[in-house]
Parts: sequence; structure tokens; C-alpha cells
Amino acid sequence: EHQQYIRNFSIVAHIDHGKSTLADRILELTDTVAKRDMQDQLLDNMDLERERGITIKLNAVELQYKAEDGHTYEFHLIDTPGHVDFSYEVSRSLAACEGAVLVVDAAQGVEAQTLANVYLALDDDLEILPVINKIDLPSADPERVRKEVEDVIGIDASDAVLASAKQGIGIQELLEQIVHKVPAPDGDLTAPLRALVFDSIYDDYRGVVLSVRVFEGTVKPGDKIKLMNSGSEYEVTEVGVNSPDPIKRDMLMAGEVGYITASIKDITDTRVGDTVTGAADPAKEALPGYREMAPMVYAGLYPTDNAKYGDLREALEKLKLNDAALEFEPETSQALGFGFRAGFLGMLHMDVVQERLEREFNLDLITTAPSVTYHANLTDGTQKEVENPSEMPEVSEIRNIEEPYVKATIMTPNDYVGPVMELCQRRRGQFITMEYLDDYRVNVEYEMPLSEIIFDFFDKLKSSTKGYASLDYELDDYQQSDLVKIDILLNGDKVDALSFISHRTFAEKRGRDIVTKLKGIIPRQNFEIPIQAAIGAKIIVRTNIRAYRKDVTAKIHTGDPDRRAKLLDKQRRGKERMKSVGTVDVPQEAFMAVLQTD
Ligand code: GDP
Ligand code: MG
Repeated sequence: EHQQYIRNFSIVAHIDHGKSTLADRILELTDTVAKRDMQDQLLDNMDLERERGITIKLNAVELQYKAEDGHTYEFHLIDTPGHVDFSYEVSRSLAACEGAVLVVDAAQGVEAQTLANVYLALDDDLEILPVINKIDLPSADPERVRKEVEDVIGIDASDAVLASAKQGIGIQELLEQIVHKVPAPDGDLTAPLRALVFDSIYDDYRGVVLSVRVFEGTVKPGDKIKLMNSGSEYEVTEVGVNSPDPIKRDMLMAGEVGYITASIKDITDTRVGDTVTGAADPAKEALPGYREMAPMVYAGLYPTDNAKYGDLREALEKLKLNDAALEFEPETSQALGFGFRAGFLGMLHMDVVQERLEREFNLDLITTAPSVTYHANLTDGTQKEVENPSEMPEVSEIRNIEEPYVKATIMTPNDYVGPVMELCQRRRGQFITMEYLDDYRVNVEYEMPLSEIIFDFFDKLKSSTKGYASLDYELDDYQQSDLVKIDILLNGDKVDALSFISHRTFAEKRGRDIVTKLKGIIPRQNFEIPIQAAIGAKIIVRTNIRAYRKDVTAKIHTGDPDRRAKLLDKQRRGKERMKSVGTVDVPQEAFMAVLQTD
């Protein structure tokens, strides 16, 4: 029967170790994509992915591989992102597979996300096939890395494929290993349908397109299906696979990975992790699904044009179908009007969400500075969760404030242990442990406030280790800290969207830094604007943005018409990203000024 010729696997690795390039070679060698249509990192098909050179979304493709045993196998390959902010994409991909191809860079060796991904694959009991990639690099040391995979990860790497995804070395050998080592899926073809929704996307014409792994039964066009979580029922309009372009199929059966459309227009019916079953003969139990991701940071998202609030809501709902880690709820700001408080897994995730909203949904947004969730223990004995600094209760009502801590794992060459520890200490880290992996690499663990790690810690870590350190972290617990809320006043008015929380030791310095920064960012107007930073009623810093000395528009009128048009155009475009806060125009940049530390 057909099932024994199916293989489902994900490609996982630390960022930049060559997952997407390896996927390219596999697509090529199996003639899935014609040579002339081939381009680098073909599966990174989002503009944003190509521009940034990173994978953001999981991507599942089907390909046919004629093996040395003479049989043709149906492979479902899922390429995954490597960045920690997108690890939810990885864990969902793995749940659709029996195997994981673990790519390790032959020069860099095992990195923090290599380990994190291995743990995810082990959680799902997947067969792990190590691949040591980039053996073409002069600095490659495959045998050292092979040993590292065994010592650090604890899996057998004696058969690890030595590959160069760039030069196409080792690809055939890997495909043969996939045939022989990754188990074929099982699952009763005659049982009631159970298919796991591991991703989805909204299509204006077809409605919601569900990416599924069928675990039991079959599904075909015309079938009545039911989404077990929401209870809603639909008739299947199309099933198929991506190869990499969508190809219609007569049916999908247990063991296969593909897509289902059913004219699902009500977006709120669909949730990643839900089980699709037959409406007439439903399965008794849903598949386990996924645990929800707890956002790490929250930020306000506001349309620059208040009239676009409804559009923003719709865009967020649609984007959530394709970004299961995104969370949002309505929020109002005195300064910015109606918007949403959105939860993200990290700064890169936040950046990507904002970009996708603007590009895919044609919106102009103001994003406020991200914040972690604080727990304020109040004098009346209750606890308040504070996702937005401006909502921190008055000092007199607070007994103490707790903030989230993470356990951070940093892998670094031992030459840089000093600078790494210094950096962690400076960011209020508490040393946990340190372990020498081999003669030249160290694994350092720290307990650190999430707020200190989430913003620019990674950049600082990279610059203090010449790019060699890698980082992974997971939420640990809440701990009490001496924190204060700092308010920013423009022209005497408190601007809620600029409030932030700081450790008391840094409060005055940060207040000063931010006020200085804002002075440089907020354009002069025809009156003087005082800027102040305050803790409660106490002003800790004050300065002024001076008024225009001359009327700028007068200058424009004297210029040549071409230049004048350009200037006006520039002013207009600049304005699009401004919000009038009271009488002051505040550009987007100002809301992010809070993020700049030392
Ligand atoms: P991913 O983040 O794991 O998907 O990595 P990519 O496939 O995007 O590759 C990251 C970078 O490594 C790109 O510049 C690739 O060209 C490069 N790369 C990938 N495989 C190899 C290889 O085998 N040898 C060399 N020298 N470079 C490679
Ligand atoms: Mg990639």
C-alpha cells in the first residue's frame, strides 16, 4: 500500500546553518523545480524573507524521490525558521512529521538553537538525522562537529551525512537516509478523519486555506467536515499539496501533509492546532493540538489614521491565521486613540508583524515601545497584571512589583567568557552555571530579567563576542525588583504611550537619555515645547524644544518649484508617520526612543 512510501520530515537548525539552501538542493535533485525556475532559498517566498535572508514561516512541500531501491517515495518536506522568535513554527512543523533533519554548520558546530530544536524534536519522538553542512568551508571541521553532536546533544552521529548544500554534496546520501531511517507514517485509512491543522492562511478567493497533516482516515472534495474546536461545519472544495505551487489532488489520506479549502470565510472559526474531522462520522477525540504560546513582549499598534481602526482589526485577524503566535486585544490611548495591544514572541516577531500588516494589508502604523508583563502587588492584597506601563497603578497603591525572569543559555568560545559574563552582570543577570563543552566552547547559563534580554541584548552579545556567541532563553518565573514607572510629559501633558518601567538604579539616567533623544526627534514647531520626565509627581529631568526661528514654509516659497514640490512631498510623507499628541506632532521614532539603553 501507498503509506509505506511516504516520508514526512522537517529541516531544523540554528539560524544560517543552511536549512533553506539544503531544501533548494533537495527540490533540485528530485526535479521538483525545473533548473530554470530555481533560485536561492526558493521556499523563502515571502518578500520579507528574501529581503532579510531569513526564514520566517514554515513551508511544506511535496516531492517525489526515486530511491536506489527502485521505488518512488512521496516526501513531505517542511523547511522551518531558525530564529528563537519563530520557534512556534518549528514545533508545529515537527508535530506533522516522523523525522527531523538536523543541520549543523561544520564550522560553527552546535549552537543554542541547535539544542533547542533537538529538544523539540525529541519531545515529539522524532527520528533525528544529523547533517553536517558547509563542509566546503575552509574553516570546516566536520569530525570535531560530529563529536560535538554526540557529546553535547547526545545522539549518535556516526552516520551523519557530510554535506555542502551550496555545492550539492551529500544530498543523495541524505535522501537515502530519509528513506531508510525515517519511519513511514501509519494511521488507519478507514477510521473517521482526523487531520491536524498546523498552519493556515487567508486567501481572498478561496477563504481560509488549512495546512494539515492527516493522521487518520481520508478527505476529499465534497466531504462535509467539522472543525472540532469551533464546532463549525463546511463542505470541502479542494484538497491538494504544495510542490511548491499548489497542486489539486483527488484526496488526502492518513500519513499525508497537504491543504484543505472549504470556503471558510469566518476567520474566527479556524485555529491552528484544531482537528478536522468528518461531519457525518466525527472522531471521538480531537488530536492533542498545540500548547498556546505565551507572548514575551507587548506593544501598542495604532493606525496613523484613526479611521483605519476597523481595517487594522480585520488585518490582525487575518494575519493571525498565518501567525499563530500573534495575540491582540483592543486598547485605547489618550495620546494615540483607538488601537490594539499586541503580544509577540520577541522583537523580531514584532518587527515582522508590523511589516506584514503594512505590506500585506496596506496600513500605516504607529508602534509603541514594547514592554514585558509586570505583576504589581497592591496594598489591598490583589495583584494586577500590567502589560502597558501607563497602566501601572500609583506608587501609593503598590506594595511591590515583580517582573518576568528567563533562563538564558549562551554558547560561546571560551575566549569570550569574560565579556559575556560582564554583559550579563550589567543586565542584572544572576549566574547559574557554566559548562565546558570541549576544549574551546563553553555553555553559560544566567537567570536574567526578560526586560533586559529582549531588546538589544542579542546585538550586544554578538558585538562582544565577534559574532560567535549564540543565545536561547525560556521564561522562568517572576521575581520582585525595585522598579519604577517613568512618565514623559510634552508641553505639560503626560503622553501615556511614552511611559516606561525602569529599574530604580537606572531611572534618572534613562529619563535623561530619553528626554535628550526626544528633543532630537520631535520636530520644532512655532512654539516652545517643554519635555519632562517624571516619577509620580516628581519631575526628574526637564528640557525644551525651542520654537522655529523662521517660518520654514517661507523658505519653501523662495525655492525653485521642483525643489519646493519635493520638500512638500517629503513633509507630507513624514506626516503620515506622525501622530498629533495634543498640540505636538510626534513621529513614530519617538515611541521607540524608550528602547535605547546604554
Ligand atoms: P538557514 O537560515 O538555515 O535557512 O540558512 P540558509 O539556507 O538561508 O543559508 C545561510 C547562508 O549559508 C547562506 O548565505 C547560504 O548561501 C550559506 N550556505 C548554506 N549552505 C552552505 C554550504 O554548504 N556551504 C557554504 N559555504 N555556504 C552555505
Ligand atoms: Mg531558512
